[in-house]
Formats: sequence, C-alpha cells, structure tokens
Amino acid sequence: MIDATHDAGLRSWVESAEGHADFPIQNLPLGIFSPQDGAPRGGVAIGDRILDLAQAASLGVFGGAAEAAARAAGGACLNPLLALGPPARRALRARLSALLAVGAPERALLAPLLHPAADCTLHLPATIGDYTDFFAGIHHARNTGQQLRPENPLLANYKYIPVGYHGRASSVLASGAPVRRPCGQRKPASESVPSVGASRNLDYELELGIWIGPGNALGSPIPIGEAAAHIAGFCLLNDWSARDIQGWEYQPLGPFLAKSFATSLSPWLITAEALAPFRAPMPPRPAGDPAPLDYLHDAADQAAGGLDITLEVWLRTLSMRTAGLPAERLSQSNARDLYWSVGQMVTHHSSNGCNLRPGDMFGSGTISGPTAAGFGSLLEITQGGRAPLTLANGENRRFLEDGDEIILRGRCEREGFASIGFGACTGVVEPAFSTTTPHGAG
Ligand code: MN
Repeated sequence: MIDATHDAGLRSWVESAEGHADFPIQNLPLGIFSPQDGAPRGGVAIGDRILDLAQAASLGVFGGAAEAAARAAGGACLNPLLALGPPARRALRARLSALLAVGAPERALLAPLLHPAADCTLHLPATIGDYTDFFAGIHHARNTGQQLRPENPLLANYKYIPVGYHGRASSVLASGAPVRRPCGQRKPASESVPSVGASRNLDYELELGIWIGPGNALGSPIPIGEAAAHIAGFCLLNDWSARDIQGWEYQPLGPFLAKSFATSLSPWLITAEALAPFRAPMPPRPAGDPAPLDYLHDAADQAAGGLDITLEVWLRTLSMRTAGLPAERLSQSNARDLYWSVGQMVTHHSSNGCNLRPGDMFGSGTISGPTAAGFGSLLEITQGGRAPLTLANGENRRFLEDGDEIILRGRCEREGFASIGFGACTGVVEPAFSTTTPHGAG
C-alpha cells in the first residue's frame, strides 16, 4: 500500500534526514533507545536524530489512532505497539510523516525532543518471547547441502516445507553487543572422540529478521491470505554459528548449542509499511519444482510477497581496526533470493495451531546469492575452511578470529522512490572464557 508517506519529494525539517543513507523521512523506523543518563524508551529514527515518542505524545501532537500507537510505542519495549497491527502502525506513520515534514507547525514543539543518535544507546526493540530460524535461502541450502551430500544437496522436503527450527530467545542481542566465542564439544573427522574447548570454526549467517505483530490464538492457524497482517517489520539478523560444534551435535534433532550462544539484531524495526515500495513478486519456481501446497499458496502473496532488499556482509579485523583500515565487504545478496515468502513462513509456523505472539522473531535463513560473490556465510565462502579467504591487507580467514567485527547492512532502492536502509547489525568476537575450557581450548 503506497501512499503520501512514500513520496520521494517529501522533505524533513530535520536537516540530516535529507539524503540520509538509512533514515530519510520515507523510512521512519521504530526502536528503543536510551539518551545519555536516561531510561530506555520508544523512538523513531529521522536522519541522525531520534525522536522521543512518549514525550511527543504527551504534547498532544498525534490525536486519534496515531495517539494510541505513539503511546503504545513510547514504553521500554515495542510489544504493545506490535500487538496493535497494521492500521495503528499506518496511522502513526502518517502522522509522524506530517509532523516531521518541512513546514510542520509543530516543529518548534518537537525539535527539543530530538536526540543525537550517536549519543544514545540502542536496545532490542521488543521483548522476544520466541525465536524461530528458517532455512529459506535456497542457494545457502544448496551450497551447504552440497558439502554433505554432493549427489543430493537439497533434501526431499525443501521445496514443500519452509524448513525451520526453534532458536533461543534469551541470547538474542542488540547490535553492538560483543559476542563471546563459545566452547563446546568438537569432533573433527580426523579425531575418533570429541574434545571440549573453544570453537575453532566460528561463523556468521546473513539473515533477514522478521518481527511478528499481532499473534494468533493457540489452535487457530493463520491463513496465507492473512499472513501479511501478522508481520510488523524487519531487521538484519546475524545467526552466529559454531560449525565444529554444529557438525557434531546436529544429528538427528538439528541446531542446538552451535547457535544458541548469540544472535545479533539490527536495532531499528523497519516497518512493513516503509517497505511497501520494495515488495517484489516471488521468483517463479524453476520448471519441475512443485507448486506450493494450497495452504501456502495465495495469489497476492505470490505477486508481492517478495522483498527487494540488497544485503551485505562486511568484515573488520582487529588488525584492520588498529591500522585504521575500513571494513572489507565479503558478500552481497538480496532478499529476493529466498525460496519462501515471509508470509509462507508465518502460515507454515502456525499451521499446526502453534500460537505466535507480538514480538516473536523469525530468521529467514542465510540469504546467499546464486554466485560466490553472494555467499552469506564463511562456511560457503571458504568451503568449510578448506579454501581460506585472503583479505586486502594480506590476512587469511578460514573462519572468524577473536577481534573480528562482522557488520551486516541492508538497503532498498527503486527508481522513483527514496532509498532507505536498515542501519547496521554489528558484533565483535571476543575470546572464549578460559574457565569454560577445562580440557583446553585452541
Ligand atoms: Mn540460520
């Protein structure tokens, strides 16, 4: 649904919003921030500033449905807003767009409620009750399957089921939080018994995060035609993965400790409304692929359930930081490389009656492009560590080293519309705790 808030000609009286790479007035992402010496509260990013939503609401500048939405977004987490659904978010967006546009009479009232983003701490935007990670990036699924089963990379269920597993919500982190290298059981093929110690094969996964809005009652599946109304917005998600721990533990029940030590999210919730101009048809399935089963098939979802978001992974090693060198890009892909739409994930997840709740988080699965330039994990780039990557400064990487910073970025561009971005999802790898490596790390 494209409306006046998407007009490329709209300009904000917040000067830094003009041409801002991520947060021009056409984006208006929501998040939770703390100003210097202040408590966490809801805000909207505009240029390099953050507007305090609760304080703005207390001035009476919203009115109607926008007022209720601003108050729901003004607390210490966005869950109350997520529960309200698309009409409330649309009303809030429309009013924010008017309030922040050039010529708004409320400018003098609102200007004192803007905080420089650089002086604020950003938190997770919502309390996450449950986190589920899918496997919908088909190039990643094929690349990793190929390493295990060259003759049969995709298992028989892949094109029928949006495959997923239940992740761990307690260790989902806001961007910028350090990521401690995990310890665990490792059993390389060259050894006959496992040892315990620091992971030697720490990896990242480039994913799209999906914020669930209104939930469903236990026992009431969400039909595919209604799935979009349950998706509040999106972020970037780094599914940190310890490949050596994963390779030993995953059979037969799937990922466990190889994933549950940390998952990083970009802090701004990019609303479904902000992404309206960047919806795309789902790519046609190749000849010979089965059509989605009826409960996963909807004409509108097929026509506009895709998302045209350019996604990137950047690496900045400790040596690069010390030498003042910039981050180096490892890959670029696009959310259009997903085999399943986000609506199909919602419908499949609830199809057994499982209840989703406002603030639940879905990971899309690693989004790799069709060629090596788009591989969304080191597992793919270095072929499981067998073909180390050489960086511009001469360093090599099989997997991540302590001190490495991984930076995910996302950006949407379309002719005739203002480009918007996701902001960054970052994390620096910290050394494993030696106290958890009684049998020796390394
Ligand atoms: Mn994953």
